[in-house]
Amino acid sequence: MFDFIFCKEPDCHEFVVTGQKTCLFHAPDREKLSQQMLDRLLNKGPIGSLSFSGMEYNGVDLTRSRLYACNLANSIFVDTDFSNSYLQLCFFEYSTFIRCKFSHIVSKYSVFSGSKFIDCDFSESDLLHSNFVGVDARHCSFDDSDLYYSDFVNAVLDDVTFRDCNLKKTDFYSSTRTQVIFKFSNFEEAIFSREY
Ligand SMILES: [Zn+2]
Repeated sequence: MFDFIFCKEPDCHEFVVTGQKTCLFHAPDREKLSQQMLDRLLNKGPIGSLSFSGMEYNGVDLTRSRLYACNLANSIFVDTDFSNSYLQLCFFEYSTFIRCKFSHIVSKYSVFSGSKFIDCDFSESDLLHSNFVGVDARHCSFDDSDLYYSDFVNAVLDDVTFRDCNLKKTDFYSSTRTQVIFKFSNFEEAIFSREY
């Protein structure tokens, strides 16, 4: 797991970039550090415990990444491709994803809570025990995916499709759903209400 060390700048609540004393925003040479960290991500080898939040990615090819316990939260991802990646216990919370691809990925225990997704593709993926609490997702596909034990509590889902998915124990409690399609999925095994 990455170190939970806060940026040395007073009143900054961001974690430090791995090996640095500040977050990315407060780094003395932000551009150089961004490039260094991006190069590490593009290296395609397995990466563990890397903390690197607050980054902007545009058109980045992150296909076949293998990330373990990494922190990429509070970031902006545009036209970025994570297809065929393995993401275990990775933190992407409070990020914005526009036209990003997550098809054929495996996500285990990863956290996307509070993020915004527009035109994103999670099809044919295993999204197990993953956290989508409070996400705002529009025009997205989760078709042909396994969402076992994933959590969409308080999510806003607009034009989001879950065709032919495994929704066993997938939690949609208190979510707002407009034009959401569950065709051919076992939605009767998903959770939509709390029974006391
Ligand atoms: Zn900072």
